[in-house]
Amino acid sequence: MPVALGYVDVLDLLRDRGLRMTPQRRAIVSEVMRTNGHIAPAAIARTIEGEMPGVNPSTVYRTLALLEDVGVLQHSHLESGAEYHKADEAQHVHLTCHRCGRDDALSIEEAAKLSRLIRQHHGFEADLTHFAITGLCKDCAAA
Ligand SMILES: [Zn+2]
Ligand SMILES: [Zn+2]
Ligand SMILES: [Zn+2]
Repeated sequence: MPVALGYVDVLDLLRDRGLRMTPQRRAIVSEVMRTNGHIAPAAIARTIEGEMPGVNPSTVYRTLALLEDVGVLQHSHLESGAEYHKADEAQHVHLTCHRCGRDDALSIEEAAKLSRLIRQHHGFEADLTHFAITGLCKDCAAA
């Protein structure tokens, strides 16, 4: 289980990789660490743009990818596109409603039965955290 890292630890991790900690990168890391739950790249880009006009969104996307490389973040594909979690918060399976967009989650314990079922098929080890399972939420299914 990865441990939760603080802002300073994350800056150290990036510096250890030989990255120059520019004011833009610092602002991005700080925004990521402040965000609870899902981290949508476009939302981070908008916030950073508001704080530091002129920051290229590609700098934001690259920094998020670097944060994944060093193990701080992990991405999942949701109905709305790829979003990040802090790596220690990523162990759940998304259930996304394709009609209303509601996002629910199965705990990894709840998903264990499904993993076992899939494993019985030629020993396949599924990573159920990577892609959302799409369908209809209870309300949309009843409508
Ligand atoms: Zn999630
Ligand atoms: Zn992916
Ligand atoms: Zn729905």
